[in-house]
Amino acid sequence: MYSFRMVLVPHCRECRTDVLDDDGRPLYVTARLLDSDLRRQLTAQGWQVTPGDPTLNRGPADPIAGDRLTCPACGLAAAAAADAARQRRDASDALPRTKTVDLAARLGAGWTLTQRAGDAARHRWLVEHDGTVHGHVNRYRRKDRTFSSGWEAHRRADLGHLRVDAITSCAKLRNSSFLWSSRDLAAWGIATAPRHTAPRPAWATRTQTTEA
Ligand SMILES: [Zn+2]
Repeated sequence: MYSFRMVLVPHCRECRTDVLDDDGRPLYVTARLLDSDLRRQLTAQGWQVTPGDPTLNRGPADPIAGDRLTCPACGLAAAAAADAARQRRDASDALPRTKTVDLAARLGAGWTLTQRAGDAARHRWLVEHDGTVHGHVNRYRRKDRTFSSGWEAHRRADLGHLRVDAITSCAKLRNSSFLWSSRDLAAWGIATAPRHTAPRPAWATRTQTTEA
């Protein structure tokens, strides 16, 4: 009989830089799930530590059950990239509006659809409430670059957008939640986050939305 202990060197999941010990040598551990002392020590050195899940017992080398580490350099680079993305979005949000449609009667006080230069050609509108962008809607562009009469809805998320599926009563196609049947319904989906089983709003039950 012999015993065998796996040894691992924890490393940055982005650039694979090893964690070093006090003498500058690779630090050996027996599992990717790190102990709390080592987590504290790494955090103090500028590493980002996402603790693993001890209830998952998938072996000491398992990357999902184990801690996930980002080294200080990669952490700074990610933060800088996020800052730059935020600045680009702020600059894009600050562009002058070329067209504004008041949707107060349909979505409630303060809601508007706006376009900036270039948005009209892309059939794209920002969905704003009191001047804050909550998302955007656009006609779906097919592979042949023609535009569908159905609309996509995208709600603002931290640094990107989340697609908002069409609810059943407002979908362009009976068997697909991919597109909303009108621009204003797509905007309504962003503004009100309706339940999937909700009926069409009263303003959309009789007539088709007119395009602004
Ligand atoms: Zn790294």
